[in-house]
Amino acid sequence: MMASPESCPALVLNADFRPLSYFPLSLWPWQEAIKAVFLDRVNIISEYDRAVRSPSFEMRLPSVLALKEFVPLNRRPAFTRFNVFLRDSFACQYCCRCCPTHELTFDHVIPRSRGGRTTWTNVVTACQSCNLLKGNRLPQQSGMFPKSRPVQPTTFELQENGRAFPPNYLHESWRDFLYWDTELDPS
Ligand SMILES: [Zn+2]
Repeated sequence: MMASPESCPALVLNADFRPLSYFPLSLWPWQEAIKAVFLDRVNIISEYDRAVRSPSFEMRLPSVLALKEFVPLNRRPAFTRFNVFLRDSFACQYCCRCCPTHELTFDHVIPRSRGGRTTWTNVVTACQSCNLLKGNRLPQQSGMFPKSRPVQPTTFELQENGRAFPPNYLHESWRDFLYWDTELDPS
């Protein structure tokens, strides 16, 4: 049985051979991977057994690609819902439970009604029940303080947090480039 090309994404590494992103893991669909090869933007590091062919051409699908030109990662990550969850490792900052993203909400530590702003330093991840429980009260009034003081994370810190969430599928050729590889046995 031949794998469908759709099930053969390529892991994309920066020019320093680290994944462009850990979470979500930087993967390109095969069409994009082949296009980048033809545009000479990437080196093929590893391939699938699966090939695509036309009458004049045959090519094995790349499983790992490395960009030829290093892409610097932004030092200041965007202030987005996803990045706040990632900073807080998808855990409610009050009860410390990890929840699927659709069950997570934002909490303003100092409520907006009390002049609190929507910034990295005043917004934390909260589950729906904790958010409801805290309501419009200040931490001192509710006795609910975030587990860690909210700060603006660096891109590096977000990357590090993202490593904690391996995807469901890891092709064997990706393992050398990912943190989720089994640890090397010092023997
Ligand atoms: Zn909670």
